[in-house]
Amino acid sequence: MMKQFFRFLVYLKPLLLPFILALLSGVVASAASGFGIPMMIDKVFPVVFDNSKLPSFIQDILVEMVAPDRLHMVVLITACLILPLVMTIRGVATFINGYLTAFVGMRVLEEIRMKAFSHLQMLPLSFHESQKKGDLISRLLTDTQNVQAGITQVSNDLIKQPMTLVSALCFLGYQAAKTSQTSVLLSNLFFVSLSIWPIYFFGKRMVEKARRAQKELGDIMAVAQENLCSQREVRSYGMQGQQVAIFRQLTERFIRIQMKAVKYKQFLVPVLEGVCALGLGYLLVRCNSVGMKESDFMSFATALFMCYDPIKRLGMTYNRLKQAQASLERLNFILDQPDNMPDPENPVPLGKVKGNVSFRDVSFSYDGKHKVLEHINVDVPAGQVVALVGPSGAGKTTFASLIPRFYEVSSGSVHMDGVDLRDATKADVRSNISLVSQSPFIFRNSIIENIRLGKPGASDEEVIESAKKASVHDFAQQKEQGYYTMLADYGDGLSGGQKQRVAIARAFLKDAPILILDEATASLDSESENKIQEELDKLVVGRTTFIVAHRFSSIRIAQRILVFESGRIIADGTHDDLYVSCPLYKELYDKQSI
Ligand code: ADP
Repeated sequence: MMKQFFRFLVYLKPLLLPFILALLSGVVASAASGFGIPMMIDKVFPVVFDNSKLPSFIQDILVEMVAPDRLHMVVLITACLILPLVMTIRGVATFINGYLTAFVGMRVLEEIRMKAFSHLQMLPLSFHESQKKGDLISRLLTDTQNVQAGITQVSNDLIKQPMTLVSALCFLGYQAAKTSQTSVLLSNLFFVSLSIWPIYFFGKRMVEKARRAQKELGDIMAVAQENLCSQREVRSYGMQGQQVAIFRQLTERFIRIQMKAVKYKQFLVPVLEGVCALGLGYLLVRCNSVGMKESDFMSFATALFMCYDPIKRLGMTYNRLKQAQASLERLNFILDQPDNMPDPENPVPLGKVKGNVSFRDVSFSYDGKHKVLEHINVDVPAGQVVALVGPSGAGKTTFASLIPRFYEVSSGSVHMDGVDLRDATKADVRSNISLVSQSPFIFRNSIIENIRLGKPGASDEEVIESAKKASVHDFAQQKEQGYYTMLADYGDGLSGGQKQRVAIARAFLKDAPILILDEATASLDSESENKIQEELDKLVVGRTTFIVAHRFSSIRIAQRILVFESGRIIADGTHDDLYVSCPLYKELYDKQSI
């Protein structure tokens, strides 16, 4: 477990100064409580109640400085001032310690969160498709917070509590030496060491519960996320009751597992206090049998209590650490996911390609078992418009997804202008491709920024020019704030056709030589489709275009048609050729034409 934590210590490197200051202030605070307070009881109370002298180094200074008739008064005041002084030192040091550890903890948290988030950006699509989104969000938000709480508490207590313990033990030793009570000291040490066992016992159970609690929380987030993204379906299928029941079942489970963790957490303190009380009881008996003075007993008892307090806190810290360990495992799950499509060490620079695309004996499987594409051999010259046709599930979308290297081919290779995609960087490959999908994603931003995604840094004029080509201009102008109208989550506030036009405007702006239209017009009514088709006609000019289509109207601009069946290309030609030579094509065409 410590190894896992050390892995995260690198994040402390840029924060070394505040971290060390936090530890030092922790040391001062613990010395003030561990040694200062029992010492005060030992030295100050006798001055007040028994007219004793202050420790000689203070007493001697006072004798030098103060007239003998006022000495008694000044000694008394000085003695009484020691308490507020010790408390002030302790208070200031505790504040600095608490403030700086919180600061360091938050910074570390941010770094871990950023690292996990950045890692998620580069992980392959297949990873994202295999994960529940809500669970990933939970890992990013609550697990990082758990780790932060662990780091904060550890850096708060790692030095402070052992220091408090050591100084209290020193005082105990000093007291034992002063009163020659070695056996009392040893029995106290025995009771102190007894308290280690419950800490270990509860800690072990804690990590198990925390692990399950975090997993449950991930499931809750996943269900909530799924539900919030599917409100239309929930309403149209009357799923509200069922959804609430699922949510309740999960939260019930979460509460049950959390309560188990709470039980262990809350049990620890009374158990430790019980051990402390046993120690004190035994001390009382011993004091009585050896005839110890009450003042000696008091400072013994205080030092003993001072020993238990840091142990109690260390126990709680250990529990926290165990909780953090469970979260750390969940974060490491993200951070340890390998990028199975790394960029090559010496990539071939692609620049802006002409747009030749070729598949050489490509086979592909999503799960490593079932082949979705088999032995695909196709050469598409630059500027050709190709339609991919075939029954649903035949592999058309998968074929198109291999061009931007969303997935890695299982065997064979895909080439862009003769360069194997694996020899170029993914960024280079994708900068040459525009994608207009069936349901384009509209980000929570203004219309103009949503289009500008096509070419970050493009001027407003450039963006508006592309918007005009895609007929976004008309509807953008009608909005109250024009191009600066904010679009809500998932582009609500725009019709399906308008969303599609925003995506087409992005593609115009990006001006990439290769274009993938993924059933771009399938979800539109025929009137919108006709209009969009006009924009697409303009967009495909001079670009190698792949149209994944089920509607035959959308492929009339294609110069070439590839017919897919069960992961293979069974025919390749023009509409007129295929209608005659390919029965499957004829069948599909006749059906769709009705
Ligand atoms: P088409 O576009 O021709 O309808 P697809 O390429 O979408 O076909 O799908 C081909 C096959 O691959 C189907 O059997 C489908 O179930 C499967 N498939 C598609 N996408 C995924 C995915 N992300 N993970 C696993 N299997 C998938």
